[in-house]
Amino acid sequence: MRIATVIGNRPQFVKAAAVSHRLRERAEEVLVHTGQHYDDALSRVFFDELELPRPEHRLELGGGSNTSQTARMLSALEPLLAAERADAVLVYGDTNSTLAGALAGAQAGIPVAHVEAGMRSYDRTMPEELNRVLADHASSLLLCSSQAAAETLRAERVAGEVAVVGDVMVDVFELLAPRADQATLARLGVEPGGYLLATAHRAGNVDDPKRLAALVELLHALPGPVVLPLHPRTRARVREAALSLDGVIVAPPLGYLEFAALLLGARRVLTDSGGVQKEAYLAGVPCITLRATTEWRETVQAGWNTLVDLDAPAALAALTREPPPDRPPLYGDGRAGERVVDALLRMVA
Ligand code: UDP
Repeated sequence: MRIATVIGNRPQFVKAAAVSHRLRERAEEVLVHTGQHYDDALSRVFFDELELPRPEHRLELGGGSNTSQTARMLSALEPLLAAERADAVLVYGDTNSTLAGALAGAQAGIPVAHVEAGMRSYDRTMPEELNRVLADHASSLLLCSSQAAAETLRAERVAGEVAVVGDVMVDVFELLAPRADQATLARLGVEPGGYLLATAHRAGNVDDPKRLAALVELLHALPGPVVLPLHPRTRARVREAALSLDGVIVAPPLGYLEFAALLLGARRVLTDSGGVQKEAYLAGVPCITLRATTEWRETVQAGWNTLVDLDAPAALAALTREPPPDRPPLYGDGRAGERVVDALLRMVA
Protein backbone atom coordinates (compact mmCIF):
# COMPACT_ATOMS: atom_id res chain seq x y z
CA MET A 1 0.00 0.00 0.00
CA ARG A 2 1.51 3.31 -1.08
CA ILE A 3 0.02 6.59 0.05
CA ALA A 4 1.19 9.86 -1.50
CA THR A 5 0.77 12.69 1.01
CA VAL A 6 0.82 16.16 -0.52
CA ILE A 7 1.64 19.03 1.83
CA GLY A 8 3.22 22.42 1.30
CA ASN A 9 2.73 24.96 4.03
CA ARG A 10 2.95 25.63 7.75
CA PRO A 11 -0.47 24.43 8.96
CA GLN A 12 -0.13 21.30 6.83
CA PHE A 13 3.18 20.37 8.44
CA VAL A 14 1.40 20.59 11.82
CA LYS A 15 -1.50 18.45 10.62
CA ALA A 16 0.69 15.82 8.96
CA ALA A 17 2.63 15.46 12.22
CA ALA A 18 -0.44 13.73 13.68
CA VAL A 19 -0.60 11.18 10.86
CA SER A 20 2.67 10.49 9.01
CA HIS A 21 4.46 8.40 11.64
CA ARG A 22 1.35 6.34 12.34
CA LEU A 23 0.76 5.83 8.66
CA ARG A 24 4.34 4.67 8.11
CA GLU A 25 3.86 1.91 10.70
CA ARG A 26 1.16 0.36 8.52
CA ALA A 27 1.82 1.45 4.92
CA GLU A 28 4.40 3.12 2.70
CA GLU A 29 4.10 6.88 2.65
CA VAL A 30 5.57 9.05 -0.06
CA LEU A 31 5.70 12.57 1.36
CA VAL A 32 5.54 15.31 -1.28
CA HIS A 33 6.42 18.88 -0.20
CA THR A 34 5.18 21.22 -2.90
CA GLY A 35 7.32 24.08 -1.60
CA GLN A 36 4.32 26.41 -1.25
CA HIS A 37 6.07 27.61 1.93
CA TYR A 38 9.80 27.51 1.33
CA ASP A 39 10.99 29.95 4.00
CA ASP A 40 12.93 28.07 6.73
CA ALA A 41 10.86 29.79 9.44
CA LEU A 42 7.65 28.47 7.90
CA SER A 43 8.93 25.07 6.80
CA ARG A 44 12.18 23.51 8.05
CA VAL A 45 11.65 24.35 11.73
CA PHE A 46 8.38 22.38 11.68
CA PHE A 47 9.98 19.27 10.20
CA ASP A 48 12.55 19.40 13.00
CA GLU A 49 10.25 20.21 15.95
CA LEU A 50 7.35 18.04 14.91
CA GLU A 51 9.71 15.23 13.86
CA LEU A 52 8.08 14.94 10.48
CA PRO A 53 9.75 12.48 8.10
CA ARG A 54 11.92 14.11 5.42
CA PRO A 55 9.87 14.52 2.24
CA GLU A 56 10.63 12.01 -0.51
CA HIS A 57 9.94 14.77 -3.04
CA ARG A 58 10.50 18.51 -2.78
CA LEU A 59 8.92 20.38 -5.65
CA GLU A 60 9.99 23.97 -4.83
CA LEU A 61 6.84 25.42 -6.42
CA GLY A 62 6.31 28.44 -4.16
CA GLY A 63 5.45 31.93 -5.39
CA GLY A 64 3.21 33.27 -8.16
CA SER A 65 -0.55 33.75 -8.19
CA ASN A 66 -2.88 31.12 -6.76
CA THR A 67 -3.83 30.00 -10.25
CA SER A 68 -0.31 29.72 -11.61
CA GLN A 69 0.94 28.04 -8.44
CA THR A 70 -1.86 25.47 -8.51
CA ALA A 71 -1.27 24.88 -12.23
CA ARG A 72 2.45 24.28 -11.69
CA MET A 73 1.67 21.88 -8.87
CA LEU A 74 -0.78 19.95 -11.05
CA SER A 75 1.80 19.61 -13.83
CA ALA A 76 4.41 18.33 -11.39
CA LEU A 77 2.08 15.98 -9.52
CA GLU A 78 0.66 14.15 -12.54
CA PRO A 79 3.91 12.37 -13.53
CA LEU A 80 4.98 12.04 -9.90
CA LEU A 81 1.82 10.15 -8.84
CA ALA A 82 2.12 7.88 -11.87
CA ALA A 83 5.81 7.13 -11.22
CA GLU A 84 5.18 6.46 -7.53
CA ARG A 85 2.25 4.14 -8.31
CA ALA A 86 0.30 5.64 -5.41
CA ASP A 87 -2.77 3.71 -4.20
CA ALA A 88 -4.22 6.83 -2.59
CA VAL A 89 -3.51 10.53 -2.18
CA LEU A 90 -3.79 12.21 1.22
CA VAL A 91 -4.31 15.98 1.50
CA TYR A 92 -4.96 18.37 4.39
CA GLY A 93 -6.82 21.63 4.85
CA ASP A 94 -7.47 24.29 2.26
CA THR A 95 -4.35 25.47 0.46
CA ASN A 96 -3.26 25.39 -3.17
CA SER A 97 -1.34 22.21 -2.33
CA THR A 98 -4.60 20.67 -1.06
CA LEU A 99 -6.47 21.45 -4.25
CA ALA A 100 -3.60 20.42 -6.54
CA GLY A 101 -3.11 17.11 -4.69
CA ALA A 102 -6.83 16.34 -4.71
CA LEU A 103 -7.36 17.22 -8.35
CA ALA A 104 -4.21 15.46 -9.60
CA GLY A 105 -5.23 12.32 -7.69
CA ALA A 106 -8.85 12.39 -8.87
CA GLN A 107 -7.83 13.02 -12.50
CA ALA A 108 -5.49 10.03 -12.35
CA GLY A 109 -8.26 7.83 -10.95
CA ILE A 110 -6.46 7.51 -7.59
CA PRO A 111 -8.74 7.75 -4.54
CA VAL A 112 -8.19 10.94 -2.53
CA ALA A 113 -8.64 11.37 1.21
CA HIS A 114 -9.15 14.93 2.50
CA VAL A 115 -8.44 15.71 6.15
CA GLU A 116 -10.37 18.70 7.57
CA ALA A 117 -13.12 18.20 5.01
CA GLY A 118 -16.43 20.06 5.16
CA MET A 119 -15.23 23.30 6.75
CA ARG A 120 -16.98 26.31 5.20
CA SER A 121 -16.74 30.06 5.74
CA TYR A 122 -19.22 30.62 2.86
CA ASP A 123 -16.95 33.45 1.68
CA ARG A 124 -16.05 32.55 -1.90
CA THR A 125 -13.70 35.53 -2.18
CA MET A 126 -11.27 33.59 0.03
CA PRO A 127 -8.94 31.40 -2.06
CA GLU A 128 -9.04 28.91 0.83
CA GLU A 129 -12.83 28.53 0.54
CA LEU A 130 -12.58 27.63 -3.15
CA ASN A 131 -9.81 25.15 -2.35
CA ARG A 132 -11.90 23.52 0.39
CA VAL A 133 -15.03 23.13 -1.68
CA LEU A 134 -13.24 21.86 -4.77
CA ALA A 135 -10.99 19.47 -2.83
CA ASP A 136 -14.01 18.03 -1.02
CA HIS A 137 -15.86 17.36 -4.25
CA ALA A 138 -12.80 15.68 -5.81
CA SER A 139 -12.24 13.39 -2.82
CA SER A 140 -13.32 9.79 -2.22
CA LEU A 141 -12.92 9.97 1.56
CA LEU A 142 -13.88 13.08 3.51
CA LEU A 143 -12.43 13.10 7.00
CA CYS A 144 -14.18 15.66 9.17
CA SER A 145 -13.13 17.50 12.31
CA SER A 146 -16.70 17.85 13.58
CA GLN A 147 -20.21 16.51 13.15
CA ALA A 148 -21.30 19.86 11.68
CA ALA A 149 -18.70 19.52 8.90
CA ALA A 150 -20.07 16.07 8.05
CA GLU A 151 -23.60 17.45 7.89
CA THR A 152 -22.42 20.25 5.58
CA LEU A 153 -20.92 17.70 3.21
CA ARG A 154 -24.02 15.53 3.19
CA ALA A 155 -26.14 18.61 2.43
CA GLU A 156 -23.78 19.34 -0.50
CA ARG A 157 -24.20 15.75 -1.70
CA VAL A 158 -20.49 15.05 -2.03
CA ALA A 159 -19.66 11.91 -3.99
CA GLY A 160 -17.19 10.50 -1.44
CA GLU A 161 -17.63 8.72 1.87
CA VAL A 162 -17.91 11.02 4.88
CA ALA A 163 -16.44 10.16 8.29
CA VAL A 164 -16.00 12.19 11.49
CA VAL A 165 -12.53 11.51 12.88
CA GLY A 166 -11.91 14.63 15.00
CA ASP A 167 -9.30 17.27 14.33
CA VAL A 168 -5.67 16.29 13.87
CA MET A 169 -4.47 19.64 15.23
CA VAL A 170 -5.95 18.66 18.59
CA ASP A 171 -3.66 15.60 18.65
CA VAL A 172 -0.59 17.75 18.01
CA PHE A 173 -1.54 20.51 20.44
CA GLU A 174 -2.28 18.07 23.27
CA LEU A 175 1.00 16.30 22.70
CA LEU A 176 3.19 19.39 22.35
CA ALA A 177 1.57 22.04 24.57
CA PRO A 178 3.23 20.55 27.68
CA ARG A 179 6.59 21.02 25.90
CA ALA A 180 5.89 24.65 24.93
CA ASP A 181 9.04 26.79 25.04
CA GLN A 182 8.30 28.95 28.08
CA ALA A 183 11.49 31.00 27.64
CA THR A 184 9.82 32.65 24.62
CA LEU A 185 7.84 35.06 26.82
CA ALA A 186 10.92 36.36 28.62
CA ARG A 187 12.76 36.63 25.30
CA LEU A 188 10.02 38.95 24.03
CA GLY A 189 9.77 40.82 27.34
CA VAL A 190 6.21 39.79 28.27
CA GLU A 191 4.67 38.06 31.27
CA PRO A 192 2.01 35.33 31.42
CA GLY A 193 -1.46 36.86 31.20
CA GLY A 194 0.02 40.31 30.53
CA TYR A 195 -0.12 40.65 26.74
CA LEU A 196 -2.19 40.16 23.61
CA LEU A 197 -1.02 37.83 20.85
CA ALA A 198 -1.80 38.75 17.23
CA THR A 199 -1.24 37.04 13.88
CA ALA A 200 -2.37 38.12 10.42
CA HIS A 201 -1.58 36.87 6.95
CA ARG A 202 -4.84 36.26 5.02
CA ALA A 203 -4.68 37.69 1.51
CA GLY A 204 -7.97 39.50 2.12
CA ASN A 205 -6.41 41.40 5.04
CA VAL A 206 -2.89 42.12 3.86
CA ASP A 207 -2.91 42.32 0.05
CA ASP A 208 -5.47 45.15 -0.11
CA PRO A 209 -3.70 48.38 0.98
CA LYS A 210 -6.86 49.84 2.57
CA ARG A 211 -7.48 46.73 4.64
CA LEU A 212 -3.82 46.47 5.55
CA ALA A 213 -3.92 50.07 6.86
CA ALA A 214 -7.06 49.22 8.87
CA LEU A 215 -5.33 46.15 10.31
CA VAL A 216 -2.29 48.18 11.39
CA GLU A 217 -4.56 50.87 12.87
CA LEU A 218 -6.44 48.20 14.83
CA LEU A 219 -3.17 46.81 16.21
CA HIS A 220 -2.15 50.31 17.35
CA ALA A 221 -5.55 50.82 19.03
CA LEU A 222 -5.11 47.77 21.27
CA PRO A 223 -4.08 48.18 24.88
CA GLY A 224 -0.51 46.80 24.79
CA PRO A 225 1.68 44.95 24.97
CA VAL A 226 0.82 43.28 21.67
CA VAL A 227 3.09 40.49 20.38
CA LEU A 228 2.96 39.99 16.61
CA PRO A 229 4.91 37.07 15.12
CA LEU A 230 4.98 38.47 11.62
CA HIS A 231 4.27 36.27 8.62
CA PRO A 232 6.68 37.04 5.72
CA ARG A 233 3.77 37.96 3.45
CA THR A 234 2.51 40.55 5.95
CA ARG A 235 6.01 41.84 6.63
CA ALA A 236 6.51 42.46 2.89
CA ARG A 237 3.14 44.24 2.50
CA VAL A 238 3.72 46.45 5.56
CA ARG A 239 7.14 47.42 4.20
CA GLU A 240 5.76 48.15 0.70
CA ALA A 241 3.04 50.35 2.21
CA ALA A 242 5.60 52.09 4.50
CA LEU A 243 3.35 51.48 7.52
CA SER A 244 4.79 51.66 11.01
CA LEU A 245 4.48 48.92 13.60
CA ASP A 246 6.27 50.95 16.27
CA GLY A 247 4.88 50.09 19.68
CA VAL A 248 3.99 46.53 18.65
CA ILE A 249 6.36 43.73 19.72
CA VAL A 250 7.18 42.31 16.31
CA ALA A 251 8.77 38.85 16.21
CA PRO A 252 9.75 36.66 13.27
CA PRO A 253 7.46 33.70 12.50
CA LEU A 254 7.96 31.36 15.45
CA GLY A 255 8.42 27.64 15.78
CA TYR A 256 5.49 25.57 17.03
CA LEU A 257 6.78 25.27 20.61
CA GLU A 258 7.55 28.99 20.88
CA PHE A 259 4.17 29.94 19.46
CA ALA A 260 2.36 27.48 21.75
CA ALA A 261 3.97 29.12 24.79
CA LEU A 262 2.86 32.56 23.63
CA LEU A 263 -0.64 31.30 22.97
CA LEU A 264 -0.98 29.64 26.37
CA GLY A 265 0.19 32.79 28.16
CA ALA A 266 -1.84 35.33 26.18
CA ARG A 267 -4.72 37.33 27.68
CA ARG A 268 -6.51 37.24 24.32
CA VAL A 269 -5.57 36.19 20.78
CA LEU A 270 -6.37 38.31 17.72
CA THR A 271 -5.94 36.44 14.46
CA ASP A 272 -7.11 35.80 10.92
CA SER A 273 -5.60 32.30 10.96
CA GLY A 274 -7.82 29.23 10.87
CA GLY A 275 -5.48 27.04 12.90
CA VAL A 276 -4.85 29.69 15.54
CA GLN A 277 -8.60 30.16 16.17
CA LYS A 278 -8.82 26.47 16.88
CA GLU A 279 -5.68 26.31 19.01
CA ALA A 280 -6.83 29.35 21.04
CA TYR A 281 -9.94 27.37 21.93
CA LEU A 282 -7.81 24.38 22.94
CA ALA A 283 -5.60 26.65 25.04
CA GLY A 284 -8.63 28.25 26.72
CA VAL A 285 -7.73 31.71 25.47
CA PRO A 286 -10.60 33.80 24.06
CA CYS A 287 -10.10 34.56 20.38
CA ILE A 288 -10.95 37.70 18.45
CA THR A 289 -11.04 36.88 14.77
CA LEU A 290 -9.97 39.56 12.33
CA ARG A 291 -12.37 38.37 9.65
CA ALA A 292 -16.08 38.73 8.96
CA THR A 293 -16.60 34.98 8.60
CA THR A 294 -15.03 31.81 9.89
CA GLU A 295 -15.07 28.15 8.95
CA TRP A 296 -14.53 27.33 12.66
CA ARG A 297 -18.06 28.36 13.54
CA GLU A 298 -18.33 26.02 16.52
CA THR A 299 -15.83 28.19 18.44
CA VAL A 300 -18.05 31.25 17.90
CA GLN A 301 -21.19 29.35 18.89
CA ALA A 302 -19.42 28.15 22.05
CA GLY A 303 -18.77 31.80 23.02
CA TRP A 304 -14.96 31.60 22.80
CA ASN A 305 -14.46 33.37 19.48
CA THR A 306 -15.75 36.78 18.34
CA LEU A 307 -15.69 37.89 14.71
CA VAL A 308 -14.81 41.58 14.44
CA ASP A 309 -13.37 41.82 10.92
CA LEU A 310 -11.02 44.86 11.01
CA ASP A 311 -13.31 47.01 13.15
CA ALA A 312 -11.13 48.44 15.95
CA PRO A 313 -13.99 49.49 18.30
CA ALA A 314 -15.52 45.99 17.93
CA ALA A 315 -12.14 44.45 18.76
CA LEU A 316 -11.80 46.65 21.85
CA ALA A 317 -15.32 45.68 22.97
CA ALA A 318 -14.53 41.98 22.40
CA LEU A 319 -11.47 42.29 24.64
CA THR A 320 -13.76 43.02 27.60
CA ARG A 321 -16.03 40.04 26.94
CA GLU A 322 -15.54 37.22 29.44
CA PRO A 323 -15.57 33.66 28.07
CA PRO A 324 -18.25 31.18 29.23
CA PRO A 325 -17.37 28.78 32.06
CA ASP A 326 -17.46 25.68 29.88
CA ARG A 327 -15.33 24.63 26.92
CA PRO A 328 -16.72 21.40 25.46
CA PRO A 329 -14.44 19.26 23.24
CA LEU A 330 -15.65 20.54 19.85
CA TYR A 331 -13.04 18.85 17.71
CA GLY A 332 -12.51 15.39 19.10
CA ASP A 333 -10.43 13.67 21.72
CA GLY A 334 -6.86 14.05 20.42
CA ARG A 335 -6.89 10.68 18.64
CA ALA A 336 -7.86 11.87 15.17
CA GLY A 337 -4.54 10.76 13.64
CA GLU A 338 -5.16 7.09 14.25
CA ARG A 339 -8.71 7.36 12.90
CA VAL A 340 -7.39 9.03 9.75
CA VAL A 341 -4.99 6.12 9.19
CA ASP A 342 -7.69 3.50 9.90
CA ALA A 343 -10.15 5.11 7.49
CA LEU A 344 -7.52 5.61 4.81
CA LEU A 345 -6.31 2.02 4.89
CA ARG A 346 -9.90 0.76 4.90
CA MET A 347 -10.53 2.81 1.77
CA VAL A 348 -7.63 1.29 -0.17
CA ALA A 349 -7.93 -2.25 1.22
N1 UDP B 1 2.14 28.98 14.08
C1 UDP B 1 3.46 28.87 14.46
N2 UDP B 1 4.24 30.00 14.53
C2 UDP B 1 3.74 31.24 14.27
C3 UDP B 1 2.37 31.35 13.88
C4 UDP B 1 1.61 30.21 13.79
O1 UDP B 1 3.94 27.77 14.74
O2 UDP B 1 4.48 32.23 14.35
C5 UDP B 1 1.34 27.74 13.94
C6 UDP B 1 0.09 27.72 14.76
O3 UDP B 1 0.35 27.22 16.05
C7 UDP B 1 -0.79 26.78 13.94
C8 UDP B 1 -0.36 27.03 12.53
O4 UDP B 1 0.91 27.66 12.60
O5 UDP B 1 -0.53 25.43 14.28
C9 UDP B 1 -1.33 27.93 11.81
O6 UDP B 1 -0.82 28.27 10.59
P1 UDP B 1 -1.25 29.55 9.75
O7 UDP B 1 -1.80 30.58 10.66
O8 UDP B 1 -0.09 29.89 8.90
O9 UDP B 1 -2.32 28.98 8.75
P2 UDP B 1 -3.91 28.81 8.73
O10 UDP B 1 -4.26 27.93 9.88
O11 UDP B 1 -4.52 30.15 8.78
O12 UDP B 1 -4.17 28.15 7.42
